[in-house]
Order: sequence, then structure tokens, then C-alpha cells
Amino acid sequence: MQNQLKVYNSLTKTKEVFEPINPPFVGMYVCGPTVYSDVHLGNIRTFLSFDVIYRYLTHLGYKVRYVRNITDVGHLESDADDGEDKIGKKAKLENLEPMEIVQRYVNDFHRVVAKFNILDPDIEPSAIGHIQEQINMIEKLIAKGLAYEVNGSVYFDVNKYNETEKYGILSGRIVEELQAGSRELDGQEAKRNSIDFALWKNASPSHIMRWESPWGVGFPGWHLECSAMSSKYLGETFDIHGGGMDLKFPHHECEIAQSVGVNGKQPVKYWLHTNMLTVNGQKMSKSLGNSFLPEELFTGAHDLLNEPYSPMTVRFFMLQSHYSSTLDFSNDALKAAAKGYKKMINGLVLARKLKYVSDDSVEENEKAKAQIDNIIENCYRALNDDFNTALAIAQLFNLLKKINSISTGNLKQAELGSEKFHRLKDTFISIVEDVLGLKEEKPQDVEGFIDIIIGLYRQAKANKEYDKVDDIRSQLKAYGVVLKDMKDNVDWAYEEL
Ligand code: AMP
Ligand code: ZN
Repeated sequence: MQNQLKVYNSLTKTKEVFEPINPPFVGMYVCGPTVYSDVHLGNIRTFLSFDVIYRYLTHLGYKVRYVRNITDVGHLESDADDGEDKIGKKAKLENLEPMEIVQRYVNDFHRVVAKFNILDPDIEPSAIGHIQEQINMIEKLIAKGLAYEVNGSVYFDVNKYNETEKYGILSGRIVEELQAGSRELDGQEAKRNSIDFALWKNASPSHIMRWESPWGVGFPGWHLECSAMSSKYLGETFDIHGGGMDLKFPHHECEIAQSVGVNGKQPVKYWLHTNMLTVNGQKMSKSLGNSFLPEELFTGAHDLLNEPYSPMTVRFFMLQSHYSSTLDFSNDALKAAAKGYKKMINGLVLARKLKYVSDDSVEENEKAKAQIDNIIENCYRALNDDFNTALAIAQLFNLLKKINSISTGNLKQAELGSEKFHRLKDTFISIVEDVLGLKEEKPQDVEGFIDIIIGLYRQAKANKEYDKVDDIRSQLKAYGVVLKDMKDNVDWAYEEL
């Protein structure tokens, strides 16, 4: 480790030295997708940011248990704890089982994040799979006088909690202001107070996602699942909890209140929040109609897109900004990212090929060696400064200059000596591949390549260069492709063994 990692903690609003509760273990929980619609590029930005955080912590030697949940129940049409469940509604509309809707979007989510080389979490629990744990938490909150039941629904008593704790500690919201800003209860509602939030909701007869509970048939409130699942898998207090900025309030604020209510202590040491991907300055979101799907990006089939962009280009584009800054989508920025990504990946291919050759006649170049140490130091300094990938990339381009100099012979490998040469090569490769998660996008069109080779084959045949003809045949055969000489054409087929 070069120097100490510091992270910006949204709870204390300061940059703090990262000291896990039980090193080398790190518990990290990130709020996962809600699975009733396609994942859009804004969501990808958040999951990609935490992917890099997970990768970097692992790179530093921490043993990370990364939990990212699936929200498959409890997201209602209205934020005010009412309306239909979005998954249940879709299931009814399409005449499907709710679990078919869930499975469809979970599968889609996995397929999409894999394209961006976002690693799987270690545990991916779902809210539906943890109903009992949520019920247990509610029972504890009722026993402590922090929740009350009305007509089969259970609510968290914000004012009661606020007598001894501070509701709003994360988001900076003040209970009195929330109270003043909230609408009056309309007499239909069961809550004692409009700022109380639902832990359990009584299910109306038409509500299809329903479970038995001590309070009758119903379903859990959205915020509860993350408290129940994070404490189950990471303990009552764990290291990192993340999500997009838009989850700070009410979701994460409610999570804190629930967990503090049950366990009497803060659940999370470091709260990390990613900033939003915007389009023309506006948050990308499904409801605003300015979101596009990764698939549209890869094909370029969207009004906002001038051309298609590959997954790694998008990944590079996102890494070029700090996760806590907003990132505005633009074709120009993506075009520049495509160029930067290609440059970086050519460097990776080159670095992999370089092999150290010693040469006793060459004197070691202390200045060049010190420069390399310095660049590497700066690269780690950037990553240690709250995972500043943007600055780290600038340093990687400096390392790449050295790699290019070696490749062109301007800098001799022996000038660096074996140790420094390998430090340069290994650091570059591991930061690009393991930390930033950039990988080669190999051309998919194999048939196009075979056609080019067939062209060379025909040329060799026409020139009666039979050695070359045999050579091309046998080399292609090694790849399982056989050439077929037709009357006035050459065709190919897979070799049948
Ligand atoms: P959702 O599936 O809508 O609950 O969102 C999943 C994650 O994506 C959450 O952490 C959100 O905060 C995050 N998110 C949603 N929209 C954006 C956006 N435009 N930019 C970055 N993150 C977002
Ligand atoms: Zn959550």
C-alpha cells in the first residue's frame, strides 16, 4: 500500500482515513436494482462506481464481502407509501406471475452489467427471500415503542425516534421542516403522523404480492429490506454502505433509523454516495423520459446518440469523472472516450507482450527509474484520494509513455533494470485490468477475418506460391477452419473431426 486510502463519508461529511472495523475484512452493501423495468445508463454509473471501489479494495488486499441486493417487492407507485406495487401491477397487466417479471429483469440486469465488466457481488439477496427477517425487525421496533400497528399496517414513529436519536443525520433533513412541508393526513390514512414511514402494509384484496405476518396479510415497506439484509450478512455495524445520491433520503435515512432503533448503534461506518448521470443537466431517469438503455447505446439507435458506443468506451467515459461529481452525457465526450480507451488498451496489449531482456553493456538510468516510481506513486495517491479514477487515468497515460518508449527502443529495458521494468509493467496491467476493469473488445466478426485470409490464399494460388498456399491452409486448420477449393471460388467450413 503506497499511502493511506481516504474516503468521503456522507454521514460525517468529511474525508476520512479508511479503517475497516475488522481488517482485513471489509463489509460492503450497495442498494441494488429495482426489478420491474430495464436498467438504464444512470443506474449503470452507480453500479460501475461501486465496482471500481470493490475492485480497488480487493487490489489493496482487503477481503471484501460485497452484498448487492435485488429489490423485488415494496416499490410502490407513490413515494407516500401507497399505490400498487410496481412489480405486482406489471404482472397483472401482462398476465404473468410476479416472479416471472422479477426473473426477467434480474436476468436482464445480470446480462447488462456483465457487458460493462461489472463484477458479481459475493451475495445477491432479494427482499422476497427475506420476509421473515423483515418481520423480525418490525417486531423488535414495536417492542421498543418505535413502531405502531394500525389496521394491519405498521409504521415507524419518527417523532418517537427523534426524542432520543436524530432523524435526518445523513440527509441533513430536519424533522420540524419535514413536518411543516408534508401534507395533512386526509383521514383515510392509518398513520399517526404524515412523516412516519411504512414498515409493513396491509394488502388490499387486489394486491397480489402478499405474505402472512403477525399483523395480517401484507407486504414489507421498501426501506426495511436493506436494513434486514445488510445486518444479516454483514452484522449490526459494517464498513461501507453505498448507493446513488437520490437514495440518501428517504431510503438511507430510514435505514439508519430502523437499524439504530433495533440495535441502538449506527449500522454503517462509511456512507458512500455516487452522483447522477445527467442528460443536458437533468438527472437521467425513467420517469423523465431522458434515459436510454445500454442496448440502444451499443447500436446507436436513439435520437440522442450520433453513433454507437461500445461497453468499454462507456466504462472509460464514466471512469474519467469522479464518482461524486455529476457526469453529463454527451456524444463529444463519448467520442473522446472511445479514443482514450483504444489508446489505453493498445498500451495494455503492448505491455503484456514486453519481455525483459537484460543487457550488461547498458547502464541503469536512475532518472528514468525515479520517474516511474513517481508516476506510480501519483497513480496510487489518486486512487487513495477517495477513488479518484480520473486522476489515476492521467497517471496511467504517463506510464504508457514509458511503455511506448521501451517499445520503440528510446528507453532500453536494461536502463530500468529487471525490478523497475516489472514494476512498471505489472502496475500498469493490474490497474488497467483489475482496478479499472477495462478489457479488450476483440472484433466479433470472425467470418470477416476468414474472408480476408481467403483473399490472400487466392492471391497466393494465382501467383502459384504453393508453399504459401499450404501454409495458409495448415494455419487455418489449426483454428478448426478448412478451406474448400471450388471450381472458381474458395469456400470454408468448420473442420469435422
Ligand atoms: P433503481 O433501480 O432506480 O432503484 O436504481 C438503482 C441505482 O441506480 C440506485 O442506487 C440509484 O440511486 C441509481 N441511479 C438512478 N438513476 C441514476 C442516475 N441518473 N445516475 C446515477 N445513478 C442513478
Ligand atoms: Zn437499499
